[in-house]
Amino acid sequence: MPMTKMFSRILIANRGEIACRVIRTAQRMGIGTVAVYSDADAQSPHVAMADEAVNIGPAPVTDSYLRADHIIEAALATGAEAIHPGYGFLSENPGFVDAVVKAGLVFIGPSADSIRAMGLKDAAKRLMEKAGVPVVPGYHGEAQELVVLASKAREIGYPVLIKARAGGGGKGMRKVDNPDDFAEALGSARREAKSAFGDDRVLVEKYVAKPRHIEVQVFGDNHGNAVHLYERDCSLQRRHQKVIEEAPAPGITAEMRAAMTSAAVKAALAINYSGAGTIEFIVDASEGLKADRFWFMEMNTRLQVEHPVTEMITGLDLVEWQLRVAAGEKLPLTQKQIPLNGHAVEARLYAEDPARSFLPAIGTLHHLAFPDNVTNGDIRIETGVRAGDTISPFYDPMIAKVVVHAADRTAALAAMESALVQTQIAGTTTNLAFLAALIRHEGFGSGDVDTGLIDRDLASLVAPSATAAGAKELAIIAASGLLEQPASDDPWATLRGYSHLSSPAYPVTLIEEEKPVRYGVAILNNERFVLSGPAGKIEVKVRREAGGWHVTGKGINLRAKTAAIPNGIAVLSKGAVSSFAVTDPFLLAEAAGNAADRLSAPMPGLVKSVRVSAGDMVKKGQILLVLEAMKMEHTITAPHDGKIAEIVTESSQVKEKSSLVRFETNE
Ligand code: ADP
Ligand code: ADP
Ligand code: MG
Repeated sequence: MPMTKMFSRILIANRGEIACRVIRTAQRMGIGTVAVYSDADAQSPHVAMADEAVNIGPAPVTDSYLRADHIIEAALATGAEAIHPGYGFLSENPGFVDAVVKAGLVFIGPSADSIRAMGLKDAAKRLMEKAGVPVVPGYHGEAQELVVLASKAREIGYPVLIKARAGGGGKGMRKVDNPDDFAEALGSARREAKSAFGDDRVLVEKYVAKPRHIEVQVFGDNHGNAVHLYERDCSLQRRHQKVIEEAPAPGITAEMRAAMTSAAVKAALAINYSGAGTIEFIVDASEGLKADRFWFMEMNTRLQVEHPVTEMITGLDLVEWQLRVAAGEKLPLTQKQIPLNGHAVEARLYAEDPARSFLPAIGTLHHLAFPDNVTNGDIRIETGVRAGDTISPFYDPMIAKVVVHAADRTAALAAMESALVQTQIAGTTTNLAFLAALIRHEGFGSGDVDTGLIDRDLASLVAPSATAAGAKELAIIAASGLLEQPASDDPWATLRGYSHLSSPAYPVTLIEEEKPVRYGVAILNNERFVLSGPAGKIEVKVRREAGGWHVTGKGINLRAKTAAIPNGIAVLSKGAVSSFAVTDPFLLAEAAGNAADRLSAPMPGLVKSVRVSAGDMVKKGQILLVLEAMKMEHTITAPHDGKIAEIVTESSQVKEKSSLVRFETNE
């Protein structure tokens, strides 16, 4: 057997948490690291962590992280021998793999041929059918005409799923419940696919009843070996994208696991797979898990976002395995040697608003804190941002992955709940409270999961939690500036309060339901305050303690932390954040000028299509235009009946808050 030699230096062609994740393992193995970054990421953690970093272009991904030529140049210039692609970006681009190899470098991942074989969902399904792996019933042929696809859909039987053959990340996918909606759904799937993947060809599949997404982690080497590392359940999804993942799959039987893992290994062997890969199956769970009711959906020929749950149940480092396999070594363990211990859960923390269709959010993370440990389990935080960093519109809005491991599922869910409750973020809208609500969801707790769970129970999952008693009082006192004093033994610090006994109350104005409300704060001593407001006077005590403040008073017993956010104060307590806008009443009058006759862009984006023209009469709910922002299509509809006075032009680029549509006002 030829001797293999581990790389001495690798380049990581990615950003954010996955770049940090790969760098960490490389450092542990004594391998040098080169980061690449766009102009927007110059100050990012992954850049600081690597031994060396190379700027590869401006912020937009097409000018930087997708510039294969710049990345390969950077590797050659820094003496890197191999390139780790992370996930997303160029990780499943066979042209990139060819270029890497041609430059005399090693691609840390499968061969270009393996990626090609699995790259298009239609061809992959045909290949898997041949290899004897069960595939979802549907049409995955060449024809693309509306009439053909619509008639195939009728044959398959509604509901059906239209999927971009080049799809990924849940994009270019539309569920269609009845034939009348087919044409509109097809058009929208095609547009999204065209812009995301440059390929608008689709396939049509049976929409599986009570679907569960269960996938199998596989690993192959260049010596003809392939193993699996058990399954992960990723059924909790929004917009066909995973939110919470776990391993093992709840309720899986030995028989089901054997059937799924052997099909997965068969699939890997069929394409001589080398490196880390995932075979995704869709499972019909309408009558429990049955060994003959799972079908191949697609293979992801890369490391998966949720790989940490597999690492936690097996105790293995999958990035280390990737590096060893790419360096020519055999798989470190045989199938029998791969352990499975306990239960692991991952939650994806995103800057997004669950209450507004999970609209991605942008902003600065003014405050960001994660717990170091959880009781009865282990915790692992995968992140690529720090407090003070910005979630920009250019990239995926993921803030972190919170991963826990415990002896069994019940303990793991409890550990996750405690991890989320101790996580504090202020400055941008996040899905933190939504994640905590999901973890507490009864059906999820009992293991009765399917991909429709989030949509079905959305209303209760996004219900705003009542603001904790005392949060507003704490915000008002914090806003008055009277909490600023450090805890100190300085007698003047203690005396300071008394000297203000007879002084007038400090005024604070909060914005409540878009109106200014005035409060006054009078200080009794350095921890006792009297608040006056529209509802009268109340005395509260605010004591500094480890990790924040303890607020007590009539009906109040709150332990919380405060953080300054633009225009206000955030109060963070038990995983919930309440934001209070503190303002100058003059600014408010200005804000009121933004009347309802205008629709503005919720975020920077590209106007993909405009459906109406100036002068048109429109009905409430009618589609006015489609905005593409943060890799998604947002349909902008009329909030009320009216006449269009002005509308943006198709293909124009719009800034956040810039006007999209103006209605005629009837004076
Ligand atoms: P998985 O199946 O592992 O969840 P997805 O198919 O959802 O992965 O997509 C992989 C991930 O890659 C996305 O969730 C996203 O975080 C990341 N990603 C994909 N494209 C981009 C991009 N253009 N910019 C930043 N991140 C991206
Ligand atoms: P992507 O490449 O975007 O990850 P997938 O084919 O893996 O696309 O599908 C993403 C998700 O869509 C799945 O995890 C599942 O929730 C849902 N899905 C896909 N195919 C089906 C199907 N035939 N029936 C029901 N749900 C499906
Ligand atoms: Mg998928």
